[in-house]
Amino acid sequence: MRPIDLRSDTVTRPTPEMREAMARAEVGDDVYGEDPTVNRLEALAAERLDKEAALFVPSGTMGNLAALLAHCGRGDEAIIGDRQHTFLYEQGGMAALGGIMPHLLSNQPDGTLRLADIAAAVRGDDAHFPRTRLIALENTHNACHGVPLTPEYTAEVGALARCHGLRLHIDGARIFNAAAALNVDAHTLVAPADSVTFCLSKGLCAPVGSVLCGSAAFIAEARRARKVLGGGMRQAGILAAAGIVALERMTDRLREDHARAQMLAEGLAAIPGIEVAPVFTNLVYFSLTAEGAQTAPEVAAALAERGVLIGPRDARNFRAVTHYWIDAAAITRALAAMQDVLVSA
Ligand SMILES: *Cc1c(COP(=O)(O)O)cnc(C)c1O
Repeated sequence: MRPIDLRSDTVTRPTPEMREAMARAEVGDDVYGEDPTVNRLEALAAERLDKEAALFVPSGTMGNLAALLAHCGRGDEAIIGDRQHTFLYEQGGMAALGGIMPHLLSNQPDGTLRLADIAAAVRGDDAHFPRTRLIALENTHNACHGVPLTPEYTAEVGALARCHGLRLHIDGARIFNAAAALNVDAHTLVAPADSVTFCLSKGLCAPVGSVLCGSAAFIAEARRARKVLGGGMRQAGILAAAGIVALERMTDRLREDHARAQMLAEGLAAIPGIEVAPVFTNLVYFSLTAEGAQTAPEVAAALAERGVLIGPRDARNFRAVTHYWIDAAAITRALAAMQDVLVSA
């Protein structure tokens, strides 16, 4: 039997409908702008997020980096949270490849940056200072338990950005999870932003790819950045075809993943020795209480022997992620395995 894989929503394999669409996809050379399926995906993504234009990129990491390169020059400063994916998990690409200086602020437990902190971080016009160019947010906020940022908060940051002549970028890897959790259209969550990246390859199940959206002028710059990063793909319509199915069919069902995350959280909370953090979307963060003898890697190894994969984050903490290939029966089996490892063992 295939393991119950709760390590991430990146493990989602394409649906049968996606594989069919991929096999049938009309293609052309996308670097020449001639792949009709990529063009259709980009138009669809721009429409869904109510932006002028969009760019298909191989990964969320490249989407965020292309956005930062398009917004900022060398020596410019980007205001960003210390728990954001772009700071923690993208190899410092903004600094390494863009010469962009991160101005780090503390992410609050709800994933936000304090407005007062942002305002205080904006530099004045002085030859001693780098130029502040950008504010970057993340929605949903992965490391902050998958919490969604509200349209109201994002609008306040957008107003602050405009007031200081700054750009606003949203790493919306899971923006459709945020929309599902808050019961709003995704475009209302990104309306104040100049640019947004979202992943097709996570909960939306496509095999590869992310999309960067923004104004036509911004996307033209980002397209140049994608090329120098080696992301100019040719007959990429094969991949974009799955992305179209992802956008058309998979966004509304993310609520099911959220319901299963709640189910998992409730079941875990009932097992002695486990503490569960609040669950907002499809990410379930939990930890082993201090009195337990086993470490998280030991528990993860014992779960793996029972056909359940969950990522330990350190000695005590885990993250489990629900997605399309995790049904209620899988949650029940995962909980039974956890019970077996922690209580019966
Ligand atoms: C997954 C993720 C990314 C990067 O996506 P890749 O496609 O793995 O490069 C960026 N931001 C957040 C919040 C993510 O969860």
